Amino acid sequence: MSMSSDDTDLDIRALGKRYGTYTAVEDLSLSVRSGSFFSILGPSGCGKTTLLRMVAGFISPDTGDIRIKGASMLGVPPNRRPVNMVFQHLALFPMMSVGENIAYGLTQRGGVRKLKRAVARDKVRDMLRRVGLPGIEDKRIEQLSGGQKQRVAIARALVLEPTLLLLDEPLGALDMKLREHMKVELKQLQAEVGTTFVYITHDQSEALVMSDQVAVMNQGRFEQVGRPQQLYYEPASAFVAGFVGHNNRVEGRVEHIDGELVTLRTAAGLALQGRRAGNAKGLRAGDTAQLFVRPEAIDIGRTASELAQTPEGLRCHARVQSVLFDGGNSTVQVREDDSGQMLHIALPLTGRLADLRAGDGVLFSYRPEQAWCFAA
Ligand code: ATP
Repeated sequence: MSMSSDDTDLDIRALGKRYGTYTAVEDLSLSVRSGSFFSILGPSGCGKTTLLRMVAGFISPDTGDIRIKGASMLGVPPNRRPVNMVFQHLALFPMMSVGENIAYGLTQRGGVRKLKRAVARDKVRDMLRRVGLPGIEDKRIEQLSGGQKQRVAIARALVLEPTLLLLDEPLGALDMKLREHMKVELKQLQAEVGTTFVYITHDQSEALVMSDQVAVMNQGRFEQVGRPQQLYYEPASAFVAGFVGHNNRVEGRVEHIDGELVTLRTAAGLALQGRRAGNAKGLRAGDTAQLFVRPEAIDIGRTASELAQTPEGLRCHARVQSVLFDGGNSTVQVREDDSGQMLHIALPLTGRLADLRAGDGVLFSYRPEQAWCFAA
């Protein structure tokens, strides 16, 4: 197969790695477009770090190939690959100035030690400008905020102009507020510098906010590779539906199938509908299946006339278990009956729903095309 190296910075084909008899990653393939922000998202232990370290060259794969700009990296040592890495513990030198830290980036991997002082100084100054911290060369690392340290670590990694910047959960050590702030900053920074970022994280909200493309990884394999909106609205597997964003998961038995539309009957007797997806292609009546519907896709009302949408047949009765007011979209938990499953519904509690209370009987409904059905 021919691979375009013009607009593809990283191309991975059928990559596999075992540790002894344990398969850490298996049959991974992906292409990362030049200038994009690509995230690898998955739970702890799914193999993200193993994959990133193979791209960096610290671990050799057992099978498959890694190409950067079309050139195979198999057998190429880490310091000869056009990549650089930023780690969670940024590994800045606290006793050196910001400028010295970034200049250190220039002396890594041999090659450029003889760079003239003035040239190095210009590069450092330019890099600091590009990461939005002009003129702080002489500051000490301990004088910087957490967010500024992140930027300096990225500047140090970018100063040699790598084709790929690999980021290993760089926001992991920050407190939550700074994390929220930094994910927006990091996305902007990437867009400004234009370098291809390959970012690994177990935090789905980071991946959704920052990425052009996301590969969702589970047990050493990719479940789905796509844009954040695709993962969110068109999950290819139950794992993706459950891992990306909030979702209600309801189990039931397939009652009937009409084209793409599956009707499930829950243990408590509720009939729910959803579109068939991923492994549900072979589903038949009588099989157990699982349905996912997002909290914000569900509407509720105390009477049919309070419901904003949806056809007659899809209205289900439930009782409000709790109302958690949260300013914007609040969370209402409803249950079909005492034995039934809990559903979370996210909507503003204004107007008709301003005085909704636990114990209220409600109807809920959603559009079946916004729910996904997978085999159990
Ligand atoms: P985390 O987010 O916790 O770092 P991860 O997704 O990065 O997890 P990896 O570090 O790639 O996961 O590890 C994948 C699996 O391979 C894990 O089950 C881990 O225990 C195992 N593993 C990793 N390195 C080795 C090793 N050197 N020898 C044996 N097993 C290993």
